[in-house]
Amino acid sequence: MKAVTLLLAVATFAAHANHDEHESHSHGAHEHGHGHLNLVVDGDQLMIELQAPAADLVGFEHAAKSDEEKAQYAKSITRLQQPDTLFRFDPAAGCKLTRQELQAAKEDHDHDHDHDHDHDHDHDKAASGEHEHHHDHDEAGHADMGAMYTYTCATPAKLTGLEATLFGVYPSLEKLSVQGILPTGQTAAELTPSANKLSW
Ligand SMILES: [Zn+2]
Repeated sequence: MKAVTLLLAVATFAAHANHDEHESHSHGAHEHGHGHLNLVVDGDQLMIELQAPAADLVGFEHAAKSDEEKAQYAKSITRLQQPDTLFRFDPAAGCKLTRQELQAAKEDHDHDHDHDHDHDHDHDKAASGEHEHHHDHDEAGHADMGAMYTYTCATPAKLTGLEATLFGVYPSLEKLSVQGILPTGQTAAELTPSANKLSW
């Protein structure tokens, strides 16, 4: 529970940091080739949240239609379910994956639209729903995807870094913005295919 609270704190921190750094980008976080990694080390628990455009994780962002696209999408899910190929830690830390949660690409804006309209007798809710709906339309055609992984480490003192091997898995990914709450304090870093190691 404590770790979850920390992770939310990181997410908030990341959102603020992004706002300050990328004010000129009208659409904020969604940028092809650019993923986000939130990291929390809390006692023997390590939590990693990965978020990136589906364009990089799957290869396309629309709902899979052809059999080929469906197979490609299924493959991307399988890859996200194997974080051993995405991240590497010092084996001496003895970190074991204890939980994972996938965040699939959002594909269906129309459903939300209908749902909002079912409630338009409530004026306040209709107003805020309309606002959200507008936002969805701005983002139409784009989808983010990701996963959250929780590890329990037998020797957390040996957990002093992470290697983002996922650049080898996702060739179009160029940059990973990292926000972390670590035993050494709060950190922000940027990883790339040629500098894919974070130490703390
Ligand atoms: Zn996109």
